[in-house]
Amino acid sequence: MIKKQTPDTIQVSDIINREEIKSLLMDKDPATLNDLCEQALHAKREFAGDKVYLRGLVEISNVCRKNCFYCGIRRHNTHINRYLLDKKEVLDAAQFAHENNFGSLVIQSGERTDKEFIRYIDELLREIHQITNNSLGITLSLGEQSPETYARWFASGAHRYLLRIETSNEQLYYKLHPKDSAHSFKNRLKALESIKKTGFQTGTGVMIGLPFQTPENLVDDLLFFRDFGVDMVGMGPYVEHSDTPMYNYRHLLPGEKERFELTLKMIALLRIMMPYINIASTTALETLSENGRLLALQSGANVFMPNLTPDIKNKDYFLYDGKPVIKGNIMAYLENFNKELNKSDQKIGFGEKGNSRQYMPVEFIG
Ligand code: SAH
Ligand code: SF4
Repeated sequence: MIKKQTPDTIQVSDIINREEIKSLLMDKDPATLNDLCEQALHAKREFAGDKVYLRGLVEISNVCRKNCFYCGIRRHNTHINRYLLDKKEVLDAAQFAHENNFGSLVIQSGERTDKEFIRYIDELLREIHQITNNSLGITLSLGEQSPETYARWFASGAHRYLLRIETSNEQLYYKLHPKDSAHSFKNRLKALESIKKTGFQTGTGVMIGLPFQTPENLVDDLLFFRDFGVDMVGMGPYVEHSDTPMYNYRHLLPGEKERFELTLKMIALLRIMMPYINIASTTALETLSENGRLLALQSGANVFMPNLTPDIKNKDYFLYDGKPVIKGNIMAYLENFNKELNKSDQKIGFGEKGNSRQYMPVEFIG
């Protein structure tokens, strides 16, 4: 058990030991979860600041060349309408984020590596910066690409790139993906390295509570983030989707409450291990628990990603069942959300890009 600490005395290096992390993850005592979340919140405020940064999430396309066994927009799912947002739709979302002081955008999509797509992203990046006076931080989450493509998008103004490793364990990786050249664990790692080398603020993450996943796997995931030296992490619970092969293994899943609490613990532990990084409070948390994203922000996470995808397309971007949708006026929702954050001495960082404090531009790494 980690020692009870005040915000002034917290020792962020206290939890470095594999056995200790594992026993904290497996401990079912609610007091352990509470303690951990409290300490992570202290560490977050002290080292990453009292702000929660906004990223407007734009899911620009559900067209995907891959067949990840867990994902609702996998290529072989024939039950969805495929779409690609047109330029106006993306630029409108960017304009909205700009006018409402979001500070940042995340552009996410199924994986495409064809020339037209690469060029389209390139044009979007330049035009978004043009219409918003370079005021938005831009994160891309567009899967595995070549080093040339990463370099091209970086040059066009993307600042951050999120590519989840999904699991740091190679055997488990191949239980979640077909074993072929489009789904190679080694290529995933190489892509992540290439993203870092390009100069992006580099983000990765995993799914938590997967069938076949062990507590040791999760410990390894946390150590992987630390050893890789990531700048940002987006990890969330695995949530089943009925049109995927992984659905057949749903009887192996931990219950929703357990998966949710395990995710909170992973976030809290990571904050204590890597106090300066950005950690996202991911959408899937809200599927498993009401106010799930707020709870994560009170347990060490510091990034919130309201969805700005046009409603009509949003319903075709279901990676898992039960994706939550913010109903009504998003700014009224955020005002209320900010009040809730104030209760834990935090506030939304309106108008701030919210760069990772861990990030070191490549020229300084040497
Ligand atoms: N195609 C890109 C980005 C979109 S998918 C990529 O794969 O990197 C974004 C993330 O959604 C994935 O990294 C995966 O971790 C998550 N995801 C997909 N299906 C999920 C599910 N059933 N439950 C929880 N997260 C899921
Ligand atoms: Fe495609 Fe990403 Fe879903 Fe895999 S997780 S099927 S790459 S959208």
